[in-house]
Amino acid sequence: MPVPDFVRLHARARPDAVALASAGGGAEFTYRALDSAIASAVTFLRKAGVTRGERVAALARNCSETVILQLACARAGAILAPLNWRLAPAELCALIEDCDPVLLVGDDMLDCLATSAVPKMAMAEVAAAIAAEAPAPFEAGDADLPSLMLYTSGTSGKPKGVLLTERNLFATAANFAVLGEVGPNSAFLVDSPMFHVIGMVTNVRPTLMMGGRIVVSSGFDPATTLARLGDPDLAISHYFCVPQMAEMLRAAPGFDPDRLRGLKAVFTGGAPHPAARIREWLADGIPIVDGYGMTEAGTVLGMPLDPAIIDRKAGSAGLLGATIERRVAAADGSDCAPGEVGELLLRGPNVCAGYWRNPAETAKAFTPEGFFRTGDLVREDEDGFFTLVDRKKEMFISGGENVYPAEIEAVLAGHPSIAQAAVLGVPDARWGEVGHAFVLLHRGAEPDEQAILAACGERLARYKLPKKIHFVADLPRTGSGKVIKSALRALLGE
Ligand code: ATP
Ligand code: MG
Repeated sequence: MPVPDFVRLHARARPDAVALASAGGGAEFTYRALDSAIASAVTFLRKAGVTRGERVAALARNCSETVILQLACARAGAILAPLNWRLAPAELCALIEDCDPVLLVGDDMLDCLATSAVPKMAMAEVAAAIAAEAPAPFEAGDADLPSLMLYTSGTSGKPKGVLLTERNLFATAANFAVLGEVGPNSAFLVDSPMFHVIGMVTNVRPTLMMGGRIVVSSGFDPATTLARLGDPDLAISHYFCVPQMAEMLRAAPGFDPDRLRGLKAVFTGGAPHPAARIREWLADGIPIVDGYGMTEAGTVLGMPLDPAIIDRKAGSAGLLGATIERRVAAADGSDCAPGEVGELLLRGPNVCAGYWRNPAETAKAFTPEGFFRTGDLVREDEDGFFTLVDRKKEMFISGGENVYPAEIEAVLAGHPSIAQAAVLGVPDARWGEVGHAFVLLHRGAEPDEQAILAACGERLARYKLPKKIHFVADLPRTGSGKVIKSALRALLGE
């Protein structure tokens, strides 16, 4: 299959529609201009030695050039690898070594990799070079070659490089566009980092597929993001962030639901968003929908945008995208009945072929039938809506009973004193394991352990109740906003 090159199609179908704009002002690309910039970027890549199968790594805040380079890689058969700039220099050096790129492009953050021998180029120079190059004659790329390498968040260990093909990205674009109601008049504000699947794939690809407008923002900042979401000139219709960012928006001083009426919905994903928080948004009249996905398979689940369904199914991450085949597998490998908890296994055009230079992890990740093991426990209801129960690795056993920390975290998050919570299973002489909660209180709330446990005890079985609450000033999180449980475990001295 050739790369489904929607930019090229729209360059003819709606050439003057804006494809790519910058939230802070700056260059704007119509579909015709974007198509031509991609063609020039193909010339640039070839001259820089980024040929078929070679990588160009990017270390930059969100910018239009990252999108242009990735689309050029798709045409040229090369691979863009955006790197997580929140990592420490030593971690970044390890990723560069793993990725082994021909070229490293980036903004001022490149300075921290001054000692790396890989040739470097500033994004401003890249932009100028693309503008100066002659467009390469169009050649359709191969949809089954990888064009993007994204590293996983590293929540459960070292980040792994995931190779995504244009067929994979097309499937995610289709799945998200349908449930997320993305169309030619949509405008997607992208301030989720483009080193993550949400920013680079889920925000960008459905919009370009449908001929909508991408508004690139260099990064999330609660006050700036709120202003942009309410700006009638930008006319943003779609915004996707991790739950923690959504809650920062609600807590920001300028938060006014009336200014956000132009949004079709706020989309969240990447980590659990407690039903209690979702209902707060709904009460303000703003549809907010949870979705579920991962670097290896893009967007997998999504909620319809109907407020009645969102309310009725709050706590669920939604329906399975139409391209995806799934199994919910019990511990013995058999299929679960509706309502039973099992591991979600996925197969379909959205699922990656494997990890970069890591045959051992790739072999472990797939069943012999080719299903990808997500490592996530889910429950599917009679209507086909899935609820994320927890990561398989996080489940612990207390007094012989399975305990899912995410369930306890959701109850804690519903307590009026609590802003954020994380729960770990900790060895215990009597029960085998017990839960320890790490709690970040709302400003001014009392750290009253007994009162919180008593309130949660009304909603949780006794064996699920945390044995201890640690009040913390912050929860350690990955670059994509997930709690790093290994860091919490380290606090316990284990
Ligand atoms: P690593 O694979 O390196 O441990 P990671 O799994 O956090 O890191 P990502 O690919 O960014 O890396 O995240 C995908 C995971 O995020 C999913 O497998 C799931 O555990 C979690 N997740 C995604 N969406 C949701 C959601 N809506 N609710 C709960 N968890 C979610
Ligand atoms: Mg993972």
